[in-house]
Amino acid sequence: MNNKVLTVGTLAFDTIETPFTKAERIMGGAANYSALATAVFDIEQAVVSVVGEDYPSSFLEVLTEREVDISQVEIVKGAQTFFWSGRYATNMNERVTLETQENALRNYIPKLSSDFAGASFILLGNLHPKVQLQVLEQLCERPQLIVLDTMNYWIENTPELLDEAIRKIDILTVSDEEARALTGETNFLKAVEKLQAKGVNYIIIKKGEHGSMLFHEDKSFFTPALPLAEVCDPTGAGDTFAGGFIGYMAKTGDISFENMKNALAYASTLASFCVEKIGTERLLTLTKEEVLRRLFYLKELTQFDINIV
Ligand code: AMP
Repeated sequence: MNNKVLTVGTLAFDTIETPFTKAERIMGGAANYSALATAVFDIEQAVVSVVGEDYPSSFLEVLTEREVDISQVEIVKGAQTFFWSGRYATNMNERVTLETQENALRNYIPKLSSDFAGASFILLGNLHPKVQLQVLEQLCERPQLIVLDTMNYWIENTPELLDEAIRKIDILTVSDEEARALTGETNFLKAVEKLQAKGVNYIIIKKGEHGSMLFHEDKSFFTPALPLAEVCDPTGAGDTFAGGFIGYMAKTGDISFENMKNALAYASTLASFCVEKIGTERLLTLTKEEVLRRLFYLKELTQFDINIV
C-alpha cells in the first residue's frame, strides 16, 4: 500500500449566480475542488483530466504550486474547456444547472502514467462515467479504496455506464437528491438500501447544511455540517468533501469503518470553508491551522459524556 491519491474529474470554467453575487468563467470543476482539499494533507497526488487550449496556465499553476502532479492533464488543441453554469435560489440549497458544455471532455480518453497507475487511493470525481471506467481499466493493481462521486447530469444522461462504474467501487458519495435520482426512492434510507443491494459497500449521503451520513452493512454514522453565519456559494462543496475524505484516508492509511468516521468529519470541515467564498476562492487561502481549529470545534460540538440516569 502507498498513500498516493489519483483523482479524475473535470477542470472547468464555471459561471455561478447566487442571489447575492455572480462570477463568470472562474476556475471550477470537480478535480480542482477535490485536489485543493486533498492538498491539505501533504501527500502525493495527481489529477487526471482534460482541458481545452483556452484554459489558463495560471489555473494549472494553482495545482502545481501545491505539488499536484498534472502530467496526466491533457490539453486538447483547438478545443474548449468543459463549461458549467448554475444558479442558486434564495435559500442556497436549490440549484439549477443553466448550461453544461462537455467540450474537450466529449471525446476524451484518459491515459494514466505508470507513476500513478498503482495509486492506492482513487477518487473517481464527477465527470463522464465512461472516463471513470477507463481510469479503472488502466490501474495496474486493485487499489485500497475507490471512491466515486457523480451528478444528476450523468445520472440522467448516462445511467447504464454509471451503473457499471458504481458496481466496481468501494464508496459512493452522492447528495440526497442524487441518491433519489439514482434509485427512484424518495426516502434516502430506502435509496441507501437499494444501493447496498447493488453491492455498494460504503455509501455517503451528503445533505448539504444538514450534514452527511456514512452507511456500511448495518452500521451508520452521522456528521453535522459546521454552522456558518454566511454562505456565499455552495458550488464545489461536494467535491471538496470527497477530496478531503480520500485525503484523510490516504494520509492515515487506515481503511476501517471507524477511521472513515474521522474522514467524514475532516471532509465536512473542509467543505465548510469551500462555501464561504465564491468558487475556489476560499480554498486558495486555506491554512492547515484554520482547518484544525474548525475540526476541533466540530469535535467539541458533537462529543458529550452523558451521565445515564
Ligand atoms: P458540486 O457543487 O460539488 O456539485 O460541484 C460543482 C462543480 O462541478 C463545478 O465546479 C462544475 O464545474 C462541476 N460540474 C458541473 N457539472 C458537472 C458535470 N456534469 N460533470 C462534471 N463536473 C461538473
